[in-house]
Amino acid sequence: MAFPIDHDLHCHSQLSLCSRDPEQTPAAILARAKAHGYTVQCVTDHLWDSAVPGASPWYAPQDIEYVRKSLPLPEDDQVRMVFGCETEFLGGTHLGIAPEHYDLFDFIVIPPNHFHMVDFVRPACYDTEEKIAGLLVERLEEISRLDLPWHKVGIAHMTCHLTFREGDVYKVFRLVDERRYRDVMRTFARLGAGIELNASEFAPGWREHEEDALRLYRLAKEEGCRFYLASDAHHPNALEFVAERMPEAVELLGLTEEHLFRIP
Ligand SMILES: [Zn+2]
Ligand SMILES: [Zn+2]
Repeated sequence: MAFPIDHDLHCHSQLSLCSRDPEQTPAAILARAKAHGYTVQCVTDHLWDSAVPGASPWYAPQDIEYVRKSLPLPEDDQVRMVFGCETEFLGGTHLGIAPEHYDLFDFIVIPPNHFHMVDFVRPACYDTEEKIAGLLVERLEEISRLDLPWHKVGIAHMTCHLTFREGDVYKVFRLVDERRYRDVMRTFARLGAGIELNASEFAPGWREHEEDALRLYRLAKEEGCRFYLASDAHHPNALEFVAERMPEAVELLGLTEEHLFRIP
């Protein structure tokens, strides 16, 4: 069976401070999901739980009480609307959501590479493609050692451009150590986490870098990982990107239904 293009498990509502788009409401998100024939649409606003010390000024207002303002999500017969969050990870065991609050979300997206947040997520001394590649795999390893409800955890946008905005991001993906990366992907596969295929990574022109852009996902597939699709939309136009861009990427990766991650 083909890998179904029937879900979008990572998108932002107007609540996320990088959206603030009055058109990006849960109702509008549902309407687009319905039009695309999706069966699952997850809303994952940026979250830093105030129970966890160390929020940046940007994250601090985006706490649990704040992201819960989108509740109750609209209901629909065709589309299951899922309440999730995109939290933050700073390395070590420093995750932006406290264990006592995992139950408040049906899906928790963890980005390993918001490296544009220099001196918060990424120490400024990580300033070359080699160092960033090492940091990326180290952060994935650290995440894999956390005690999380893995069946409802997604590893976000491993190859997004935020990984190294001031350098050659494709070189970073080439330089990621294969043995360490395969080991951590095997762990994610065993734990049951989802690996995200984020439509922002497959913008027009991406196939000029096809090999580098797909490398980490091919390796993850070989290690038994399961995948889900995400628009990461912050505005209504980007809600089209799963349907527009992802069939090609899914085909090139050779994904089938057996590679599909589903939120329980
Ligand atoms: Zn993100
Ligand atoms: Zn996001």
